[in-house]
Amino acid sequence: MQTYQLRINGRWRDSSTGEFFDSYDPFTGKPWASVARGSAADVDDAVHAAHDALTNSAWSQMTASARGKLLHRLGDAIAANSAELARTEVRDNGKLFAEMSAQTAYIPEWFYYYGGLADKIEGSVVPLDKKGYFAYTTSAPVGVVGIITPWNSPLLLLTWKLAAALAAGCTVVIKPSEHTSASTLEFVALLEEAGLPAGVVNVVTGFGQEVGSPLVDHPLVRRVSFTGSDATGSRIGAQAAGGIKHVGLELGGKSPNIIFDDADLDAAVNGAVSGIFAATGQTCIAGSRLLVQSSVHDEVVRRVVELSKTARMGDPADPDTQVGPVTTRDQYEKVLSYIEIARSEGAQLSLGGAAATRPECGDGWFVEPTIFTGVDNSSRIAQEEVFGPVLSVIRFDDEAEAIAIANDSRYGLGAGVWTSDMARAFRMTAAIESGTVWVNTYRAVSYMMPFGGVKESGLGRENGISAVDDYLETKSVWINT
Ligand code: NAD
Repeated sequence: MQTYQLRINGRWRDSSTGEFFDSYDPFTGKPWASVARGSAADVDDAVHAAHDALTNSAWSQMTASARGKLLHRLGDAIAANSAELARTEVRDNGKLFAEMSAQTAYIPEWFYYYGGLADKIEGSVVPLDKKGYFAYTTSAPVGVVGIITPWNSPLLLLTWKLAAALAAGCTVVIKPSEHTSASTLEFVALLEEAGLPAGVVNVVTGFGQEVGSPLVDHPLVRRVSFTGSDATGSRIGAQAAGGIKHVGLELGGKSPNIIFDDADLDAAVNGAVSGIFAATGQTCIAGSRLLVQSSVHDEVVRRVVELSKTARMGDPADPDTQVGPVTTRDQYEKVLSYIEIARSEGAQLSLGGAAATRPECGDGWFVEPTIFTGVDNSSRIAQEEVFGPVLSVIRFDDEAEAIAIANDSRYGLGAGVWTSDMARAFRMTAAIESGTVWVNTYRAVSYMMPFGGVKESGLGRENGISAVDDYLETKSVWINT
């Protein structure tokens, strides 16, 4: 078994408790690594290391352009080690190597993009309405940032926060998911080898209550950037409000993927299948509600089922595998329980509906790609986030009904529209309550495009130029002349 310690102030060390917990390989269902179980005392050490780096270190003295160049070097180091990082994440998370290596190869772009922005953060001279003053603004790093990440895409979702925070000059303490800590620890050690000064980024591994909660509460943490479930996000938001802290919340979704009868059905069917079954349905933007216009409903369902049947399951490290395991045992049980809920609600099972017992799935936590049709949008299977390979198909007659169903959700993260009518596409993108709407494509993301949710899918936007502002405070200076 591999052992992972905490990474604080550029050094590996045990937690103050001296305890470890197991991290599991979802393909074998067995532990493969032992990870230090951090505590509030470790959080305190890590936050102080980050605060020292913020106020009195090579990092705090660095010019913005030097910081930008450093971010470029960090990007190069990640690029040179992307296959290695991908392998760790495949082991810990069960993500497909093919998908994961594409993801780690793309991550450097965030460091190049935000590295390029570091020396473009400017203040302004204000043409004041009063005489006798010279007035200007400056931008300063918000302070120590607490980053809390989920298990489904550990490095990518960390990068969205970290690259922008570093560009702004902040320092950071990361609390990765207890299910997938390994890649984050390797990633941060790699950044330090590439020249990131000690203490700028620290990692405390462990559980939500024992590490995450004290991190949110720590008085020296001035911003919390969180990705995870809405239940935890709501708790963190309330806790951060208690300490008057900035907070960014990237939460869950129940995204509608809407197929009209004038769509290119080949593309739409592909988009529907990959929209839900990619990453085994464990993405916040999974197209888990497939809305299909009545006139093409039966044909689309038949083709979606046929295509989904061909999905090859098995070892995520095998480049031919298309659907891997569910990442944790709890999540596996949760997905199976939602299948039972859908059955009891009267949804019609059109594919799957059980744990996968194919020989190539071994003892891993696999669930067969599952499709329910005849789903009522008010049912639990259509309203609650399953976060697994379960698709709910809902029929609609016209545009107005599609919009009403799409928006009848407490979430609003992603949405897809498949149509050849561009006027309809504009109407739909305007009417759908969602942070992102994709037309004739699905799940595309870029470091340049803001990403985030409306309604209970979250607060704030990551990616794009304006994300740096989340990590800055404006100071207004008045000089009496
Ligand atoms: P989770 O909320 O259970 O855990 C997320 C992180 O919060 C973990 O590191 C966990 O240890 C920590 N945590 C738990 N309790 C805490 C507490 N009281 N205080 C502080 N930290 C605490 O979520 P998860 O199961 O790891 O991730 C899946 C969820 O993440 C899904 O709902 C998914 O939709 C969401 N997600 C959202 C996005 C997005 O960008 N909107 C992206 C990916 C995943």
